[in-house]
Amino acid sequence: MISLTIDGKEVQVPRGTMLLDACRQAGADIPTLCYDPDLKLAGSCRMCIVECQGRRNLLAACVTPAENGMIIDTESTDVVETRKVILDLLLARHKLECHVCEKDGDCKLQEYCYRYNVKESVLGEEGPHFYKQDANPFIERDYDKCIMCTRCVRACEEITGACAINLEDRGHHVHIATAFNGLLEDSPCVFCGQCVMVCPVGALTSKISAGKGKPYQVKKVPTTCTYCGTGCTFELNVKDDEIVGVTSMRNYQQSPVNNGALCVKGRFGWDFVNSPERLTTPLIRENGELRPASWDEALDFAAGKIKEVKEKHGPDALAMFSSARMTNEENYLAQKLMRAVIGTNNVDHCARL
Ligand code: SF4
Ligand code: SF4
Ligand code: SF4
Repeated sequence: MISLTIDGKEVQVPRGTMLLDACRQAGADIPTLCYDPDLKLAGSCRMCIVECQGRRNLLAACVTPAENGMIIDTESTDVVETRKVILDLLLARHKLECHVCEKDGDCKLQEYCYRYNVKESVLGEEGPHFYKQDANPFIERDYDKCIMCTRCVRACEEITGACAINLEDRGHHVHIATAFNGLLEDSPCVFCGQCVMVCPVGALTSKISAGKGKPYQVKKVPTTCTYCGTGCTFELNVKDDEIVGVTSMRNYQQSPVNNGALCVKGRFGWDFVNSPERLTTPLIRENGELRPASWDEALDFAAGKIKEVKEKHGPDALAMFSSARMTNEENYLAQKLMRAVIGTNNVDHCARL
């Protein structure tokens, strides 16, 4: 263990701990933009700079290992002024339209500009405008709001392994692009939306959720995805009793199977829930036509038919075809019904492809 003093408080951390973690352990609220606990360190945005007594330069806390005896000030005048300059530079090429932005209320740039009272860029000039690709059905990519944190690039490579996007060009014109700056749907992108999950601002958002509610207007309901047997967890975003989106739970304790990562179905395939074409009542086929029935009637009808087959042809004439979209408990009951009640081992499962 090593000891250091952070904002007047002495803390002990294991050798090798980064300054950012040590500062957070000491209770300091360090702003970060490019840092993401699940991604390799980039150390590029410099928002996490802190002042260390005896050092000439401010230190980027996310990529600087804590050292024994360091005396750190996380909110000194120099630190605050430098953070303001960083925010000023970011705003110089940012399309600031919080009132109509999907990230309003859940945006790191907005949060830090408010915290440090940065209203607009004193650099004043209009930034470059990037071509807005919107041919794909899932992800809105508005790079006029991008702060070049590269979290999306790292998530695409490190979590999904698709490597669909990277940096293109240099300096004021640098932006995120697919190979040869083509469309996302022509790239190796699998539309998992991990890039949307990690983007700290409104540069990457869900097209399907657009206009349906700002982050602070939705209720988040934790649940398990019903699409396959992996069992990923996520939060349904609910507004006025309707699902308007899906967001990741990025806490390993809450999301131990997937740690926030999802596939295209889980992240973007939820709109069927609100479809008016869904069945709302059981249907019984009579003379080739389907007619609505009550649950009691439908269950009695199905049970009667099953009984009839069993009596006529024996229990092995019946089989249960179950589903990965059901819970473990429901699948347990399904096989129990067949084995214990019907008397057959004919049990199978749709995910056994
Ligand atoms: S990305 Fe953030 S700062 Fe930019 S317009 Fe949207 S909410 Fe405002
Ligand atoms: S949606 Fe997934 S695969 Fe596509 S760019 Fe984003 S992270 Fe990469
Ligand atoms: S699109 Fe979002 S995650 Fe990607 S570099 Fe820009 S701000 Fe960062």
